[in-house]
Amino acid sequence: RERSGAAALGERPPLTVLAGPTAVGKGTVAAYVREHYPEVSLSVSATTRSPRPGEIEGVHYFFVNDEGFDRLLAQDELLEWATVHNKFRYGTPKGPVLDASARGERVLLEIDLQGARQVRQSMPDARLVFLAPPSWDELVRRLVGRGTEGEEERERRLQTAKVELASADEFDEIIVNDEVAHAAERLVELMRGDR
Ligand code: 5GP
Repeated sequence: RERSGAAALGERPPLTVLAGPTAVGKGTVAAYVREHYPEVSLSVSATTRSPRPGEIEGVHYFFVNDEGFDRLLAQDELLEWATVHNKFRYGTPKGPVLDASARGERVLLEIDLQGARQVRQSMPDARLVFLAPPSWDELVRRLVGRGTEGEEERERRLQTAKVELASADEFDEIIVNDEVAHAAERLVELMRGDR
């Protein structure tokens, strides 16, 4: 698809989705984009998990309880949603994303693979970017290194990651997360239609 041509004609830039396997560093790349590229409008998801230290309501997530999430679903306010790692629910509020897109802003969704597939269905023009680890060993190293999961949970996530890595070819673009600043820069270049 010829995207830069469309951008030159003043059309709306496509919604961009960043997905990828567990521990690949999607969140870190998204945080880097948030800090260094204010031109990118980062979608703020709703989640049923609790805030981590330093996370700000409305900036990193909208923190809701189960009833709150049910309400978002009942009112059809989510563009996509998923239960991630069999635990908490996460979803993209529709309104802000559609509003920002309508204003011609470059919108980025950092979501899991299940969500990316839903966006593919509901918004066929969206640009799906797969963030890949430099290697399998490096992915394992990152997951172990961050030390946030116990042994059993880690094994489960690695199984999921194996399956998820195999779906890279469903995506429009693949960015290797060799280094955060570099991956973020490539992502923003894509979103600007520079390449
Ligand atoms: P965390 O709890 O570490 O912030 O995020 C856990 C996972 O949830 C990550 O893989 C992240 O991409 C995914 N995630 C965050 N927001 C959303 C969302 O709105 N929709 C979906 N489908 N996944 C999300």
